Amino acid sequence: MTYLDHAATTPLRPEARDAWLAAVEVVGNASSIHRGGQDARRLLEESREQVADVLGCDPVEVVFTSGGTESINLALKGLWEARDGGRDALVLPDGEHHATMDAAGWLRQARGAELRHVGLDPFGAIPVDRFRDALTGAALATAMIANNEVGTVNDAAGLAAAAADAGVPLHLDAVAALGHVPLSFAGLRGSAGKGVGLSALSVSAHKVGGPVGVGALVVARTARIQPLHHGGAQQRGLRPGTQDVPGAAAFAAALAATEAERVTETARLAQLRDRLVAGVLSLPGTHLLGDPVRRLPGNAHVLFEGAAGETLLFLLDQAGVQASTGSACQAGVPEPSHVVLALGRDETAARSVLRFTLGRTSTGADVDELLRVLPDALARARAAASVRS
Ligand code: PLP
Repeated sequence: MTYLDHAATTPLRPEARDAWLAAVEVVGNASSIHRGGQDARRLLEESREQVADVLGCDPVEVVFTSGGTESINLALKGLWEARDGGRDALVLPDGEHHATMDAAGWLRQARGAELRHVGLDPFGAIPVDRFRDALTGAALATAMIANNEVGTVNDAAGLAAAAADAGVPLHLDAVAALGHVPLSFAGLRGSAGKGVGLSALSVSAHKVGGPVGVGALVVARTARIQPLHHGGAQQRGLRPGTQDVPGAAAFAAALAATEAERVTETARLAQLRDRLVAGVLSLPGTHLLGDPVRRLPGNAHVLFEGAAGETLLFLLDQAGVQASTGSACQAGVPEPSHVVLALGRDETAARSVLRFTLGRTSTGADVDELLRVLPDALARARAAASVRS
């Protein structure tokens, strides 16, 4: 089996598994006063420190959550609820993850938010000048550091500086970027004033070899934000409830191990990815989407002319290669990729893409195997498409 879908989820790291198994043996609620509770609390706070160390923030700013989706919801809805009166616009670039789009859509419907869309450039990047123009008088802005589908890496520092200058709180979705690009919450925040500039940043454990169902929202000490849930004082009251100590310990172990090898590993993956791209693009009617240079090291996102992405996905899967169309299904019917549409491509193109993503366990043999089975799968997918049309 050749797994080329590391951006969807990547295998659990042994360090995370060991940390999780050790932590579940600690019996005690981290809020309890007795020794068992104190042991759990110590482990939890050490994990928070480890996560904070990699993300370049204070430990108290790390709020553990159930993953990227919850973090994004807490950021958008929590910052919105605490916004300055009279400001009702949310700056929303095109091509964001569904967690962001759907949370913003809910704010529009339920809270009357005005969504200010920011178009992407043809490579899938958020143009900083367009983003800056949209910020005037806005209540809140959001943006992703790296696009999870086409792999384009944005100018996060430029986006954060624009928000700080405009006096608007900003949330950054760092889920796809985590482990692949250097991140510093304090560095991105710079000297932004109280309640403005970079205020919250979302990450998720299962994208870096931690368990599914764990994540964090970094919330600046000075952010103005309200909790979504109520029920206790844990985590500054922003995410109340008994804390998942094994999940936090496993996330911290995965993140620390990922960070320790990030520089060498991203260089290795970029080389493998370049070989994969060169091999795929040697087939006629194929195009790399996203920025050719400023892109995630393990991401290859390819448009296959004349083939439906889901057919190719199915045929590759039958041949033992697992990839992704990157886009969602609605009631079992594949949707055209909203990200590819945001690049200015048409609906046919948006249905003709596949995303191949490499990760820690990827080897040259994985690339060889894809390149071996792809020509036949592509020919069959194109034949199926021509019969249908
Ligand atoms: N944001 C981005 C950019 C993602 O790629 C993902 C997951 O694919 C998420 C958010 C959601 O994260 P989670 O799966 O932890 O809910």
